[in-house]
Amino acid sequence: MSTESADRVEDIIICGSGPAGLTAALYAARANLRPLVLEGMQPGGQLTITTDVENFPGFEEGIMGPTLMDTMKKQVERFGTRMLLDEVTEADLSAQPIVLRTANGQTLRTRALVIATGATARYLGLPNEIRLQGHGVSACATCDGFFFQGVEIAVVGGGDSAAEEANFLTKFASRVHLLVRRDALRASKIMADRVMKNPKVTIHWNTEVADVLGAKEVEGIRVRDTQTGAETDWGHIKGLFLAIGHKPNSDPFVGQLDHDETGYLVTQPGSTRTNLPGVFAAGDIQDHTYRQAVTAAGSGCMAALDAERWLEAQEAGDGG
Ligand code: NDP
Repeated sequence: MSTESADRVEDIIICGSGPAGLTAALYAARANLRPLVLEGMQPGGQLTITTDVENFPGFEEGIMGPTLMDTMKKQVERFGTRMLLDEVTEADLSAQPIVLRTANGQTLRTRALVIATGATARYLGLPNEIRLQGHGVSACATCDGFFFQGVEIAVVGGGDSAAEEANFLTKFASRVHLLVRRDALRASKIMADRVMKNPKVTIHWNTEVADVLGAKEVEGIRVRDTQTGAETDWGHIKGLFLAIGHKPNSDPFVGQLDHDETGYLVTQPGSTRTNLPGVFAAGDIQDHTYRQAVTAAGSGCMAALDAERWLEAQEAGDGG
């Protein structure tokens, strides 16, 4: 689809094509709402940069992340979902219909909107770290920890995520090295105590990663002492996990929707409704706690059902 008619009003537009967006599309399509999905600039979302996914129910032998997302996309297209390789740059969410402007210069109008634009794991920005993503470098311990049985690995970060992931990874790794750039953890006391008491975790204070070593997979890391600047190669490290926070992809919406201090959208308890009528949020954009494909898919389903009921209520004239 190349152009949209200027006065066409969609029933529902879904922003984002990860598990939340595509599950919302599946339910909306099967409710005959003919959803339009704006796929975003990373179609398929975070799962497209992982390899094996072994914790999504229904796949006995696991499935490759890109394959899972490709299959979900085909499934939603089978029910009449339209996909557009574009993303929202500006939105007027209080107008009815809601008006969206996209990166490709289109103006779209819709009665209901599901925001499922996800979050992006923060990376250090080292060229070799990006090159070895999915080959020993990961930002998701729950997804990839299983692949590091009996080897030594490093976790970067000092917050609750880093503490939690370091502890979790000791189920698999022979030793977990937690690299903290300062001389203190940011993590809550209970999480910090737990990781400091874990006999399989070694904490390295004032330490940062200067480079990731290896041609096709991680064969070591170069660490830097943040106080002296001295660099050392650690060839015993076979996996590197980043736990330095996520950034929710909420920039076009935060001026109009309730959000927390880091930009995660706030939904009403037990629902995907935002503070504005007809606007719903699902997946990692409103969840910094669970962040799993299956929980994102679940909230995508909720968003489509919430939107469908809201549209029905509008038609019935009771305002939803
Ligand atoms: P945080 O922002 O809390 O912590 C990020 C950590 O990464 C900090 O220690 C920070 O260091 C470090 N860091 C940032 N950039 C770099 C870098 N370039 N190099 C090295 N280290 C870096 O993120 P989290 O993901 O840990 O937590 C996000 C939110 O989710 C928090 O509110 C947290 O409490 C919550 N959470 C709760 C959990 C639970 O309760 N079970 C589990 C996980 C998260 P510095 O301290 O020096 O800034």
